[in-house]
Amino acid sequence: MVVPERMSLTDIQTRIAQAEARAQRAPGSVHLIAVSKEQPEARVLPVLEAGHRVFGENRVQEAAGKWPDWQNRFGKVELHLLGPLQTNKARQAMALVDVIHSLDRPKLAQALARLAQEIGDCPQLFVQVNTGMEPQKAGILPADADQFIAECRALDLPVIGLMCIPPVEEDPGPHFTHLAQIAQRNDLTQLSMGMSDDFETAIAHGATHIRVGSAIFGARR
Ligand SMILES: *Cc1c(COP(=O)(O)O)cnc(C)c1O
Repeated sequence: MVVPERMSLTDIQTRIAQAEARAQRAPGSVHLIAVSKEQPEARVLPVLEAGHRVFGENRVQEAAGKWPDWQNRFGKVELHLLGPLQTNKARQAMALVDVIHSLDRPKLAQALARLAQEIGDCPQLFVQVNTGMEPQKAGILPADADQFIAECRALDLPVIGLMCIPPVEEDPGPHFTHLAQIAQRNDLTQLSMGMSDDFETAIAHGATHIRVGSAIFGARR
């Protein structure tokens, strides 16, 4: 696998703006989620100091260990949970994050709906779709997506869009196209797709949320 070269936040922002322009999309229509999982504080603080306030994490436990302190120092940050969520961590996740990108099964939908009723609030949700149909990967299968989205809506869950992680060895373009099609036929406007290696392709295919880690912070250990 190619390890992306480290770049500054402003370089990434410039590349996003150029990709938006090439796709004839409005400036600022793409949200940059800086994925800080497994990154040391020395790499995260400069991005906070530069004023960035949208971050992504993979694990509830790890995020809970870092972000309360950083938010005390830098103020409110919009936190996105990107990794698989176990139902027994759902309550903690809901208290900590603003957006969950990994809603991928009925059992989790039911747990979130129950908690949302109890708490009176719920993070915004992306349904994760396993567009590559990889057995080891999380996500609802494309064939089951329409029904699952309907189930989530029947539970009053605030589903705003779809998320995918294309197979590493494949051209991501067709996966992004497929995700956009499923979103469109379900009247969902938000698309969480694109990472360090393919965010410009994702923007060309309509991504509204890109999840960029190593290209901002450097390679993870
Ligand atoms: C780690 C991760 C990212 C960021 O990956 P990079 O290649 O470092 O940009 C994005 N999305 C998810 C779901 C991840 O787990």
